[in-house]
Parts: sequence; C-alpha cells; structure tokens
Amino acid sequence: MTGSASPRETTPLEERLIALIKSRGPISIADYMADALFHPHDGYYTSQTPIGAKGDFTTSPEISQIFGELIGLWLVQSWEDIGAPKAFNLVELGPGRGALMQDILRAARLRPAFLDAARIWLVETSGRLRHEQQRRLRDAGIAPEWADRFADVPAAPTLLVANEFFDCLPIRQFMRVETGWRERLVGVDEKGLAFTLAETPPLPTIDIPEMHAAAIGDIFEVNEPGEALIDEIARALIERSGRALIIDYGHMQSGYGDTLQSIRRHAHWPVLNAPGSADITAHVNFERLFTRAFAAGAAAFGPVSQGEFLERLGLVIRLERLSAGKSAAEAADLFAGAHRISSSSQMGELFKALCISSPSLPEPAGFRP
Ligand code: SAH
Repeated sequence: MTGSASPRETTPLEERLIALIKSRGPISIADYMADALFHPHDGYYTSQTPIGAKGDFTTSPEISQIFGELIGLWLVQSWEDIGAPKAFNLVELGPGRGALMQDILRAARLRPAFLDAARIWLVETSGRLRHEQQRRLRDAGIAPEWADRFADVPAAPTLLVANEFFDCLPIRQFMRVETGWRERLVGVDEKGLAFTLAETPPLPTIDIPEMHAAAIGDIFEVNEPGEALIDEIARALIERSGRALIIDYGHMQSGYGDTLQSIRRHAHWPVLNAPGSADITAHVNFERLFTRAFAAGAAAFGPVSQGEFLERLGLVIRLERLSAGKSAAEAADLFAGAHRISSSSQMGELFKALCISSPSLPEPAGFRP
C-alpha cells in the first residue's frame, strides 16, 4: 500500500488539529509531530502498538538478539574503562518493548559485578510501553526504574544507550524561498491538513548553515529537543564519568533534504494523514549531534555505520557460536537476522553509531578499524 493509493481517513486528533489551526493559524511541524506521537490520549506512542511484526515498524533489537548482546559487551568494557564503579546508572532512552535491555543484561552476566553495580533507568513517556518493558524485564528477573526525562535520572557515573530514539523527536523544517528561509508549517486546505509556509523569516536564533548555495525549495531540518538532549548528556558525562551510545538512522553530514516520513503497518503513509495512527520520524543529523557534544566539552566518536560497528564488536563470531548445534532452519533464521541488521543493503549502512564520552576516557571499541 502506498501513500497516494491510501483512502483518506481521519482521527479525532486530526479533527481537533484542523479546528485549532482554523482558529489560531498554522502550527510548526514539531508541534504537529509532538501531538501526533505523544498526545497523552491520542498520540501514536501512547495509544498504539508500534513495534514488532504485528506493529508498524521493527528495530534491530527486535530483529536479532546479537545486536543487544554485542552492545551489552560494549557496555561491560565501558564500565571497566570508567574504573568499574560499584554503583552506576545504566540508562536507556526510549526502550520500546524492552528487547535491547533484556539482551544487554543477558550478555552482561559474564561480569556479575557489572550487574550488581548497575542501577537500571528506563526513560520512557508512554505508559503502554512502560507496561510492556516492565513485563518483559520482570520475566527476566530485572527491576528497572523509570524516568520521564533524562534530566530526572539522579547524578552518578552513567552508561547510556539509545536506539531509534532521536529519530522520533520533533523536528522543525525550513524551506528556501526567493527571499531567504521560511519555516514549513502545518495548515489546512479544502481537503484537510496541508503543508504551508510561514509568512515571515525565522528568528535569527535558528541556525541554518549555508552549506552550498541552497536552491529554491531546499529544506533544512532542525531537531531542537535532540540537540538540547545532547547538551544535557554531554554535561552529565563531563561531571561524572561515562559514555553514551546513540544508534539511529540518518546522515553523517549536514545536508538539505526532506526526511520527514510516516510508517504504518511496515509501509509508507502520508505524514499528515490520520495523525496518531502512524509513526512519524526524521533522519538524524549526526554531524550536528557530534558538533554539539564536542562544543559542550565532551569527547565524541563516529558516527560509524551500524554494520561496521557490529562487525568490529564480533558479530560474525557471535553468529557462529549461536548457530553451533542448531538446526539448519534455526541457523538460517539467526543468519537472516544478523544479515538484516548489518548488511549495507539493509540496515547496516543507513543506521549509524555515535559515542559521546567523558573527555578523558580511552577510545571506545567499534569506532576504528
Ligand atoms: N529503542 C526501541 C524502541 C524505539 S521506538 C527499539 O530499538 O526497539 C522509540 C521509543 O522512544 C518508544 O519507546 C517511545 O515511546 C520512546 N520515546 C519517544 N520520545 C520520547 C521522549 N521524548 N521521552 C521518552 N521516551 C520517548
């Protein structure tokens, strides 16, 4: 099913947004995304079952256990690099259904002292997903704590992971027109919600780099909450030792382009159609996140492609070990999962890993050949 062929359907949230925009004027794409994804009652993450074969999209830890296991070993190594503190925060941003944390903690069993020292914090806004995380981790004998925001996690040495978290933070878009840049907004036309442009230029506080002569119609995207969060993470890692591993899909270098997209039932869906019923994401601009962390005084490594990162951490050896003694069908499944998360034609190239670190630590594993 493609967007253009889909019948136009609506949601209560769409009706309310149309009424609001008619009375008050267009809203930013960030405000639209925030409502469509996180509205306390009708938001996509609050009201739907987003992740997994029965949901709308799937993620690396849902595809292959090897993803979380290798990251678990990376975290154990990082814990040793920060001096094996007797107490530290193991933080995950946006844990989805809890698969990544489950695999991390299973792999970390080889260092019981790591597990004894870890206080597990899950940063999650969706009550539904918190429930799923609790159920899954309880079955594995783990009792995490939850926070609404990273800022609410108490200060301590910190190891943090975030997979497919930054891509769902609300972005703003700016479009090049004859006279400069204009913010792209969500307004209404006779058919319903429709993109439009602000009548006046953006405030000078919006930093839109002139990378090369922008053509009329070029779009620049800014992830303001993502960049603010990088500042918070960098500050925390400067005050207390630790590392953050951020994995997501996106580009190594800043560029112009419209990457806003919506996915429903594993297929593309029109971004402005039936908000609350589909996922909406944008590519992560890793160059901006790297620069931001560095400017705040933290060390930053990467980004490297997910495929390279996982191969350097031992994907092939882990796959061989797991497959040994398995039936041909089970071994084929394990291979298919590992291939999907690492091959450049699938998730291995588009997805990237970035590490933000306390300034004085050794280079983390996986970021250099
Ligand atoms: N990391 C998981 C799920 C990714 S989906 C995986 O790899 O499978 C994004 C997750 O981030 C969901 O759990 C969503 O509810 C959560 N989330 C999105 N924005 C958030 C925010 N601002 N604060 C806390 N959690 C958020």
